[in-house]
Parts: sequence; structure tokens; C-alpha cells
Amino acid sequence: MKIADLYGRKTTLSFEIFPPKKDAELKNIDATLEILCEMKPDFISVTFGAGGSANCNRTIEVAKKIKQKYHVEPVVHLTCLSYSREEIDEFTRILKSEGIDNILALRGDRNPDIPEKDDFRHASDLTAYLKKTGDFCVLGACYPECHPESENRVGEFRHLKQKVDAGAEVLISQLFFDNQYFFRLEEDCRIAGIDVPVIPGIMPVINGAQIKRMITMCGASFPDRFEKIIRKYESRKEALFDAGMSYALSQVIDLLAGGTSGIHLYTMNNPAVAGRICEGIKNII
Ligand code: FAD
Repeated sequence: MKIADLYGRKTTLSFEIFPPKKDAELKNIDATLEILCEMKPDFISVTFGAGGSANCNRTIEVAKKIKQKYHVEPVVHLTCLSYSREEIDEFTRILKSEGIDNILALRGDRNPDIPEKDDFRHASDLTAYLKKTGDFCVLGACYPECHPESENRVGEFRHLKQKVDAGAEVLISQLFFDNQYFFRLEEDCRIAGIDVPVIPGIMPVINGAQIKRMITMCGASFPDRFEKIIRKYESRKEALFDAGMSYALSQVIDLLAGGTSGIHLYTMNNPAVAGRICEGIKNII
């Protein structure tokens, strides 16, 4: 099933997970998948760590499990900066043979330890290639507070439009804690002539280590109200869980009330996170 076909018919709820590390057993993810899939999400996306070959890639293995064992639609994340056309062909050949139809096409972050190749410089190059070479539904990433490498917002939206023109049918956003950034992103998409569904990515903050990682990695800004809550509860694990989940739930309800096409939840492989959000919106979505 192609994810893009869902939009217009319903408001989607989807989860993001990451595969077990290379040296951990694949079956470690089973208990998590079992609970997540019982919540009947519209799809589950599986992140992709660059640097491996198609045959040893855990993302594909987990996506296969989601589809074959739990009968939920998977979306496979695929980065391109460190892969050649032939390597991407190998990934997509396996995806097709497993009946996986949906790819979140990404450039990937620059990493000095992983050499870059020349075939794909931007996510739009990968998107165009996937659309030309296979019958995939291609999704793309977008950034409510702009991508950290962008010089300005005008350039950011010009490149986003290129990605959509290349074939991205759904956009999923980077996490954010102030919904005004997302509403502005939707507005700017309309101005730029981008008319595909734009799905907000929500990450509940439930532990202190996660907060520090987020500040350094994605540059999302923390509104005063959010910062106050985090500061107050960060040293008490259970209290921070309650506070972080309530904040995320209020974001989700505000977005749904604003008419968003779906919610994509960064679950961090924690079914309790997904469970709390599902419970909170069970009569809404
Ligand atoms: P692009 O769309 O290529 O954009 C990157 C930068 O280049 C932007 O500043 C853009 O404006 C600029 N740009 C784009 N096109 C052009 C052009 N033609 N000329 C000049 N500049 C241009 N990373 C992983 O490694 N694995 C994952 O599984 C993963 N999942 C993600 C899921 C989501 C929903 C999001 C939002 C991000 C994810 N990332 C993942 C992170 C992502 O790989 C990084 O943010 C990366 O730095 C950019 O990827 P992109 O696909 O947005 O790149």
C-alpha cells in the first residue's frame, strides 16, 4: 500500500522507530513492535543508519518484520550521501522483492567518518532517481525551523519545492516544541506552491539525556513554557515522563484542531510513549 493514498481519506497516526544496533539481536525489537502494532498505526517508519550494505542493513529487516509479521505498513528511511547508484539499486531491489512500497528519501547528515559519494548530493536527487527507477511512494523530510545548513528561508523552500517536484508525495517534519513553527511551515509551503500533505513530527521529551542530545543535534528551540516544565521536573524520572507526555499531547491536540493531515510520533522505541498519546486522542483522531 502506498502511504500517499491515505491522505484525503483520513487523518493518519504513524510511529517512528529505530532498528536494534548491529551487535544486538534482531528479535530484541519484537516486544516493542508487538505493542506498537496493536495500536494500529497507519504506518511505522524505520530509521536508517548510513554506512552499511543492503544485505546487512537492519532497517530493511525490521521493515520486513513490521509488514510480514504484524501486517502494518512500513516506511523505510534511506539516506543517499554515502551511496552510489548501484548500492541504492541493491537496496531498492530488496525492498521491491519484500513488497515494501514506501521510502522516506533523505540526504543524511554529513559525517567525517563516512566518505561521501558523488551520485546523490541532495534528497531531491534520490527522490527523482527512486521515482524514475521504481514504483515507490517517496516521502521527504522538512524542517519547521529550517535545516541547520540553510542560508535562509527562501532558499530552504525553493529546495523543498524541488524535492516535491522530483516526486516527494508526503513530507514529514523534524521535531519541534512550538506549534507556531509548524503552522508557519504549512503556510510557507502553500506560498511556495507545495501542495502535498505535511505531517508534523512530535517527540515527547521524557528524559534528561534526550534533552541535551536534542539541543546539540537538531537545533529545535525550546519555548519558555516548555523550558520551565523541563527544568522543574528533569531530576524526577516519573514526573518528567508525565510532564513531557502532557506537553506533547497538548501539541498534538492543537495540531489536530488546526487541521493537520496526520501526526508522526517519534516513539524512541518506547511503547509507553505511543500508548499515552493514543489514549489521549482516542476520541479525537
Ligand atoms: P536535503 O533535502 O537534501 O536538504 C539538506 C540541506 O540542503 C538543506 O539545507 C536544503 O535546503 C539544502 N538543499 C537541498 N537541495 C539543494 C540544492 N539543490 N542545492 C543546494 N542546497 C540544497 N538521518 C539519518 O541518517 N537517518 C534517518 O533515518 C533519518 N530520518 C529522518 C527523518 C525525518 C522525518 C527527518 C526530518 C530527518 C531525518 N534524518 C535522518 C536527518 C536527515 O538526514 C538530515 O536532517 C540531513 O542533514 C538532511 O536530510 P534531507 O533529506 O532533509 O536533505
